[in-house]
Amino acid sequence: MTNKIRLGTAWLGGCSGCHMSFLDLDERLLELAAAADLVYSPIADLKEFPEGVDVALVEGAVANIDHVELAKKIRERSKIVVSFGDCAVTGNVTILRNRFGVDDLLTMVYREGPGKAPLGHEADGIIPYLLPKVLPLHQVISVDAYVPGCPPSADRIWAAVTALLRGEKVSLEEELITFG
Ligand code: SF4
Repeated sequence: MTNKIRLGTAWLGGCSGCHMSFLDLDERLLELAAAADLVYSPIADLKEFPEGVDVALVEGAVANIDHVELAKKIRERSKIVVSFGDCAVTGNVTILRNRFGVDDLLTMVYREGPGKAPLGHEADGIIPYLLPKVLPLHQVISVDAYVPGCPPSADRIWAAVTALLRGEKVSLEEELITFG
């Protein structure tokens, strides 16, 4: 039996830059590993988000039905859900596609554009069904804290993670993180 915090990180509609910034914690990752077990992460390539997670960092906006399903599962199974990076917080880059209709978008990219090879999400299930509009995370599930930035710097991530692991519920200096 371990007393470590159970930490999960997930990647929805984003570029993974926020996770790359997480890796920029460098030697602080060793300190984090002493305090927390990483129980889910795209880095570990686990397939099922587990039960009983203490803190979940969620990168990216909600853009398709797979994202909705995972976001809801994360909410059900986590005590604290963190909107991690600007795409999760505001939609940021991912939400730029909202000016186009889904069908126009698929035509531009997959039927006539550079991604032509897949037949499209209707035909073969390669692409998850896209939502009509991309949504920031808090419009799909309730969120407990926000860590903005594109990507958030490693220092900002460290400030947020260490505060959350200590169970702090206050804003940190210079409003590096905010709590919902
Ligand atoms: Fe990538 Fe920036 Fe979005 Fe993070 S916030 S997923 S770095 S575009």
